[in-house]
Amino acid sequence: MSNNQAEKTQTSKCQDEALEKQFLEEKKDEDLGVYCDLFSAKTTFEGQDGGVVSALLVKGFEEGLFDVAVIVRRGEGYSAKATVASSADEVLAAKGTRYLKVNVTKKLRELISQGKIHIAVVCTPCEAKAVRKIQQTFKGECEITIIGLFCFEAFNSARLKTETAVRLGIDLDKAQKTQIRHGKFSALVDGKEYSCKVKELDEAAEKICSYCNDFTSQLADVSVGSVGSRKGYSTVIVRSKVGEKLLKNFDAVKDAVDKEEIVRLSKFKCERAKKSLALLKSHK
Ligand SMILES: Cc1cc2nc3c(=O)[nH]c(=O)nc-3n(C[C@H](O)[C@H](O)[C@H](O)COP(=O)(O)OP(=O)(O)OC[C@H]3O[C@@H](n4cnc5c(N)ncnc54)[C@H](O)[C@@H]3O)c2cc1C
Ligand code: SF4
Repeated sequence: MSNNQAEKTQTSKCQDEALEKQFLEEKKDEDLGVYCDLFSAKTTFEGQDGGVVSALLVKGFEEGLFDVAVIVRRGEGYSAKATVASSADEVLAAKGTRYLKVNVTKKLRELISQGKIHIAVVCTPCEAKAVRKIQQTFKGECEITIIGLFCFEAFNSARLKTETAVRLGIDLDKAQKTQIRHGKFSALVDGKEYSCKVKELDEAAEKICSYCNDFTSQLADVSVGSVGSRKGYSTVIVRSKVGEKLLKNFDAVKDAVDKEEIVRLSKFKCERAKKSLALLKSHK
């Protein structure tokens, strides 16, 4: 990994502030970024957590807020790829998380070049930043709604497969669901849950992720994750007028959110990024 790549992955404060000013309108919180609402919610969709992402995509389609969405779908085995959805069925076929780093900007550019104007994108924080930059370039030509996911780190699929085979004795390709919660990685295979500490899977993590310092997708219109919510609920952070419009009259059961827990992980991720970069520079 070059210093240049690592520095690019670290959020450049002034660059992000310009993007924040351009696309987000609310007050800024030192740890969670710009936002106007923070809550925990569960929908009728059976998703990775509270099914909020799927429910918001379906709501957005129904209300004509966007007509296409770039989402991420499971491929063969434990792989994932960006794909385009334009119906509730396509959204529901992609529910659940694949803990992998997936590029969504190629599909987004394709949609823009096809003349699509109202587009939603579901992505990790690093991709949200790339999407905002594209939006800057095509200013006025398209309206993009970003649903950003919380993300502490992503895994390399092949290495995760090896590590989980060794530590859990499973074939990851056969996992119906994988989940990271409270520092534990679990995989559901043939109806049985297998788990270990996420820390034990360090070798499988994408190296670039240790330099990344955005946990809550601070440049998204709406951010969604599980940290801060109880099991089966999603934490939702609304950051812009676009996000507020999407969340208006949102049909979900709400619950209390543990803001401190989200702040704790956000700070922890920033510290990790600083340490990783300092270490890289010391080896120059
Ligand atoms: C790499 C990664 C790491 C994550 N780490 C954390 C974490 O540390 N803490 C935390 O609280 N939350 C984390 N999340 C988010 C969390 O796993 C859920 O995605 C989120 O809570 C939304 O749940 P839901 O039930 O609302 O989603 P659902 O309604 O199930 O919808 C999930 C959506 O996520 C999309 N998706 C699936 N995989 C990917 C991917 N690789 N890249 C982009 N989009 C994808 C699908 O297209 C789908 O639309 C992570 C997500 C990813 C992708
Ligand atoms: S940790 Fe950062 S670089 Fe890695 S996938 Fe998540 S947002 Fe992207």
